[in-house]
Amino acid sequence: MAASAQLTDVLIVGAGPVGMTLARALTGAGVDVVVIDRQAPAELTALPYDGRAWALAPASRRALQAIGVWPDLAARAEAIQGMRISDSDSDGDGDSQAFLSFDQTELGSEPLAHMIENRVLRRALLRHHPVRAASLSDCRPEAATLGLELSDGTRFRTRLLVAADGRHSATREAAGIALHGWRYDQVGIVCTVRHQKPHQGVAYERFLSPGPFAMLPLKGRRSSLVWCERPVTAAALMAADEDSFNAELAARCGDAVGSVELCGRRWSYPLALHLAESYVGHRLALVGDAAHGMHPVAGQGLNLGLRDAAALAEVVVEALRLGLDPGAADVLARYQTWRRFDGLLLLAITDGLNRLFGAQVEPVRLARRLGLAAVGRLPQLQRLFRHQASGSMGELPRLLRGAAL
Ligand SMILES: Cc1cc2nc3c(=O)[nH]c(=O)nc-3n(C[C@H](O)[C@H](O)[C@H](O)COP(=O)(O)OP(=O)(O)OC[C@H]3O[C@@H](n4cnc5c(N)ncnc54)[C@H](O)[C@@H]3O)c2cc1C
Repeated sequence: MAASAQLTDVLIVGAGPVGMTLARALTGAGVDVVVIDRQAPAELTALPYDGRAWALAPASRRALQAIGVWPDLAARAEAIQGMRISDSDSDGDGDSQAFLSFDQTELGSEPLAHMIENRVLRRALLRHHPVRAASLSDCRPEAATLGLELSDGTRFRTRLLVAADGRHSATREAAGIALHGWRYDQVGIVCTVRHQKPHQGVAYERFLSPGPFAMLPLKGRRSSLVWCERPVTAAALMAADEDSFNAELAARCGDAVGSVELCGRRWSYPLALHLAESYVGHRLALVGDAAHGMHPVAGQGLNLGLRDAAALAEVVVEALRLGLDPGAADVLARYQTWRRFDGLLLLAITDGLNRLFGAQVEPVRLARRLGLAAVGRLPQLQRLFRHQASGSMGELPRLLRGAAL
């Protein structure tokens, strides 16, 4: 690699929410970081709304606060103050039919989560760190660095390369790290809906036999919908005219928020579970969807990725402060040990939930009802469930506790 290559501590491939959170956390602690994305910054900031909205767990919100991004988001985020969970045996009319019901007031002082639209989060993060429009065309090991060549011809030497380039990560593939997993026989339809009555900050999730149907509160009388269906039904719903789509919607929504209608475009995503065989390689760390992907049943994919970003930022900053090499195998091994089990556990939980609630066999339905009824009656169990969903289980990285690095 030519001597003219610029040296950087960390080079991140992928300016999605996970890569950008990591970049901001590292630069805030004085680390030299370059971020590249195959999409130009103008495209990234002018991203057409892709339909997704995030349920940010309290720990994720604390991390965004600790890196100084939350003030740009607070006014645009809707707090989830309650949750009603029901299944296909109930008619979905809201509180009275819910098996499981959480409320902020019963369970703690902070909201269960905050809903934030993807475009809002992306724009806020992009205001905090520059992004170079390029992809990686060559990567070679050198004595104490990796020699990188970008698609725009620029050369870098970096001590640590981070793959934050999403589910189909080319960086992971180039490193020869295998991916395990499977596709679900389900497609997620995502859209925003407008409703007649205010949602009062309540999220509704119904477990129907083809898959979960979730309605999560956004600002105003709007909610974000994640509707999982069998592929054939999903294709028909995507092709249906707006009136027919709204009729199908009404059949699933119940009347907790009055009449509901589509507001804007519909998107659909094939659903899959995947886990990288290793989160690390030679001077390489995988974060976010490049490392794992899960069923959206619990809305935890991004939260898990933000936990990766917070943990990796912490081990890298600690190594640099001690004068150590941030890309050394033992530093990366610490990151992998910290994060891989959490990833595996959440993948197993979301997969299990999807299977449990999809089953229509009578003994499983009975067990499901008894299980949920028990959780509903035991505040301690509810607290445990909430604790897991809030992203506060296990040894938390500093950022997730709201502390600076
Ligand atoms: C239907 C659905 C609903 C979901 N709902 C939720 C939810 O409510 N809550 C939640 O926490 N999660 C949810 N998720 C999961 C969530 O979408 C992902 O976990 C999240 O987007 C991962 O972020 P990321 O930054 O790792 O990757 P991405 O958002 O995929 O970003 C990757 C970035 O890398 C760039 N890139 C890709 N390839 C290259 C390359 N070769 N070179 C350079 N750049 C490249 C891309 O342009 C992109 O900017 C949902 C997922 C689905 C499918």
